[in-house]
Amino acid sequence: SAAPDDDLLKGLNPPQREAVEYRGPALLIVAGAGSGKTRVLTHRIASLLRNREAWPSQILAITFTNKAAGEMRERVEQIVGDSARGMWIATFHSACVRILRREADQFGFTKAFTIYDSGDSRALLKRIVREREADALGLTPAGVQSRISKLKNELADAESYARDANMSDPAERKFVEIFGDYQRALQKANAFDFDDLIAQTVFLFRAFPHVADVYRKRFRHILVDEYQDTNHAQYQLIRELTKPVQTEISSGGAAVLIPEADGASLTVVGDSDQSIYAFRGADIRNITEFERDFPGAKVVLLEQNYRSSQNILDAANSVIRNNFDRKDKRLWSDQGEGDKIVGFTGYSQHDEAQFVADEIEKLRRSGMDYQQMAVFYRTNSQSRALEEIFIRAAVPYKIMGGTKFYDRAEIKDALAYLVAVANPADEMAVRRILNRPKRGIGDVTETTIARFAADNGMSFRDALAHPAEMGLGPKLQKAIAQLDEVLRAASEILQPASGEQPPSTSVTEALRVLLNDSGYYDALRRSRDPQDEARVENLDELVAVTREFARNNPEGTIVDFLTEVALVADTDDLDDESGSVSLMTLHTAKGLEFDAVFLTGVEEDLIPHRISANEPGGPQEERRLFYVGITRARKRLYVSLAMTRAQFGEVTAAMPSRFLQEIPALLIDWKQSPGDVNSRGGSQSRALNARRPQNDRWGVKPLAPGSGLKPKSTAMDRFPGLVTNKVRDNGDLEVAAGDRIRHEDFGEGTIDVVTGEGAKRVAHVRFDTVGAKKLLIKVAPITKI
Ligand code: ATP
Ligand code: MG
Repeated sequence: SAAPDDDLLKGLNPPQREAVEYRGPALLIVAGAGSGKTRVLTHRIASLLRNREAWPSQILAITFTNKAAGEMRERVEQIVGDSARGMWIATFHSACVRILRREADQFGFTKAFTIYDSGDSRALLKRIVREREADALGLTPAGVQSRISKLKNELADAESYARDANMSDPAERKFVEIFGDYQRALQKANAFDFDDLIAQTVFLFRAFPHVADVYRKRFRHILVDEYQDTNHAQYQLIRELTKPVQTEISSGGAAVLIPEADGASLTVVGDSDQSIYAFRGADIRNITEFERDFPGAKVVLLEQNYRSSQNILDAANSVIRNNFDRKDKRLWSDQGEGDKIVGFTGYSQHDEAQFVADEIEKLRRSGMDYQQMAVFYRTNSQSRALEEIFIRAAVPYKIMGGTKFYDRAEIKDALAYLVAVANPADEMAVRRILNRPKRGIGDVTETTIARFAADNGMSFRDALAHPAEMGLGPKLQKAIAQLDEVLRAASEILQPASGEQPPSTSVTEALRVLLNDSGYYDALRRSRDPQDEARVENLDELVAVTREFARNNPEGTIVDFLTEVALVADTDDLDDESGSVSLMTLHTAKGLEFDAVFLTGVEEDLIPHRISANEPGGPQEERRLFYVGITRARKRLYVSLAMTRAQFGEVTAAMPSRFLQEIPALLIDWKQSPGDVNSRGGSQSRALNARRPQNDRWGVKPLAPGSGLKPKSTAMDRFPGLVTNKVRDNGDLEVAAGDRIRHEDFGEGTIDVVTGEGAKRVAHVRFDTVGAKKLLIKVAPITKI
C-alpha cells in the first residue's frame, strides 16, 4: 500500500529534493561518498511512478552490481508498492543481455546464446593462439585477451582495428588475425563474451535503427548510478538510447525525417573521486564532460554526508586532497566526531588477521552485528590469511566476489552440460564434457569427431549421434553414444518435443539427470580424493541454486537460469547468509556501507599496488580506491598492516602505505605500530608470540627482540617506508619517438611519441611483448638502450 506523498521527500535535504523533483532532459548529480546519490536515484524513480509521470516499463535504471539493482528495486517497491513491477533495474550487462536475447535472431544468433566469462574466453583464445602459432611472436592468451577487451570497450572490432594498425608489423598482423578468429568462433558458438554484451548492443542499435527506436520509445527515463565508472561503450549505449526518435516519411519523392519523440530524460549520478575502473576502460571524462555532451543539463551538488562520523570523513578528505586533478569538495557530517580511527601493525599478515579477529569479537560483544562489519583488502590472495585465522577463531564470515563458486571445475562442468543442451552450437561446452567423467575419450578421438563434423557439415554436438560412422573402436562408440543419450534425455526435459513450455523446476531435473546418468556424480563418490567430497557438496549446492531459481522464477527457462549464473557479479554472493562478516576487495566495496570497516594490508606495493606505480595516473587511481574504502565506514574504521608479508611464495619486508601518512596523525589511535612492536617486552610480547606458531608454519620467522626494524619514536619515523622508499626521478631522461628503451617489468620497446612537458612528459611505448603502454617518464623504471 502506498504511503502519503510527502513521505517521498521527507527524508531528503533541499538539494536532494531538488534532484528528485527536477524535470528536464538531462540531470547530473555529482557528490562525494555517502551523500545520498543512490538514495536520490531511488526516490526519483519512486516519484515518477507515484505521480504517474511514467509507467514502470518506461524506466531503465542502471546500477553497478546485480545486488545494488536488487536493493534499489526493493526500496522502490517499499515506497510505491506493486506498481513498481516491470521496471528495468539492472546492470549494464544484464540490461544488454535482455535486449540481445530479444533481438538475437536479427543478426545471426539465437535467443539461447551462451555468455562466456573471462575463463571461457581465455580458453578459446588459448586454442586460437596455439593454432596461429602466435607465441613465437610473443603473444600470450592473457595479453591478447586484455587487448581485445580494451578494444571492445572502445567499440573497435577486428576490421576497424586492422584499418589503423601497423600491418607491416608481424605481431600486429597476427593479433588482428587472432581477433578475427576469436569473433568468428564466438559467432559460430552462438556466444558473446562479457565485453560483447555491451558492444554488440551498440552495434545492433547502429545497424538497425528501427530496433533502437523500439527501446528509445519505450525508455522515457534513464537513470545511471556510479556514472564515473562507465566506459566508452557504455557511454555510447546511453547516447544511443537517449536519441530522439524520428520517422521517415516520403514527401514528393524525397525522404524526410520528422521528429516523433524526444530523447529520454537522462539522470546520472557519480563521484569522480570514486572512479576506480580506469584499468577496465572507465573514462572519468564521461562525467566531467557531461555538460558538454548534454547541453542544458541541470547539475546538482550534494555535500552533506549521512553515512560516516566526522573523523572518518576528515581522514577521507585529507587523503583524497592529494590528488591534483580534482575539484575540491568538502564533505561534512552532522553526526559528531565519533571514534578515532584505530591503527595496528602486525609482525605478519597472520598477526594482523588475529588483531582483526580480536577486534571483531570485541565489537560483537559490544552489541554490533557481524553483518555490520566488513574487512577489505586490495588483492584477492590477501583473504587467505584472514580466512585461516577467522576459521580458528570461529568468526563467521563470507567472501563477497572472488568466492569463485562458479569458477570451480566441477561447477563449470555441470554448467557445460546444461549449456550443451540449451545451446548445442556452443562447441566449447560440448568439448568440455566429452571426457568428464573419464570415458576414455582423448584428444585423438576429439579430433576425429571434429573432423567428422566438418566433413559432414554438421555441428560437433550433432556428430555425437553418429559414433558408428567414425571408424572408432566399440568401446569409444559406446561411450559417445551414452553421452549423446544423456544429452537427449535432458533436452527432452528442457525442450520437450511437444513444444510446451516446461516448468521452471525442469532445470533441477535436467541437472540431476545430467549429473547422474553421465556418471559424473558416481565418479566423484567413488573417488578416494577427499577433495572430491567437497566437489559433491558444491554440486549439491548448485542443484539447490536451481531449486531456488525455480521458486523465484515460476516462468523461468534454462536460458534464464544460465543468464543469471553468467551475470553473477562481484558482490553477488550465493546465499544471503546474514550474521557473518563480509570479506571483499576494495573494488567490490564500492557503493556499500558498514558500521565497522577494516582496511587491511595498508602497505606500499599493495595499496598503491605495485603494478599501478608505473602507469600514468596509477597511484592516483589507487588513492581513490583507498578513499572508497575509508568512506564505506559508518562508525568505526580500522587501518592495519603487517611488517612482513608472504606473497608469491616469498616473505618480504612490507612498508607502510604512503596513504597512511596522508591521514592526520591525531585522527589515528595506534594500538601497535612498528615502533611499539620492538619496544614492547614482557608478557604482552610473549602473548603475541604464543599465539603465533614458532615453527615458521606461516612462512614468517618470529622477530627476535632487537632484530628487524629499529624502534622508532616520532610519528614520522613510524613509517620507515616513507623515508627509505626513494621515488625514482627520470626527470631529465631524454627520449624521443623511435628510441628503444628497456622497462624493468615490461622489457624492451619502441617509443611511438612523447607528449606533455616537464614532469608530465608521457612516453607512448610499443613494447615487444606486452603491447602499447603510456608511461610517465619521470617515474617509470626505464632506461634508454
Ligand atoms: P556512495 O558514493 O558511497 O555510493 P551515495 O552518495 O550513493 O554513496 P547513499 O548510499 O545514497 O550515498 O547514502 C548514504 C547513506 O546515507 C545511506 O544510508 C542513506 O540512506 C543515508 N542518507 C542519504 N540521504 C539521507 C537523508 N537526507 N537523511 C537521512 N539519511 C540519508
Ligand atoms: Mg551510491
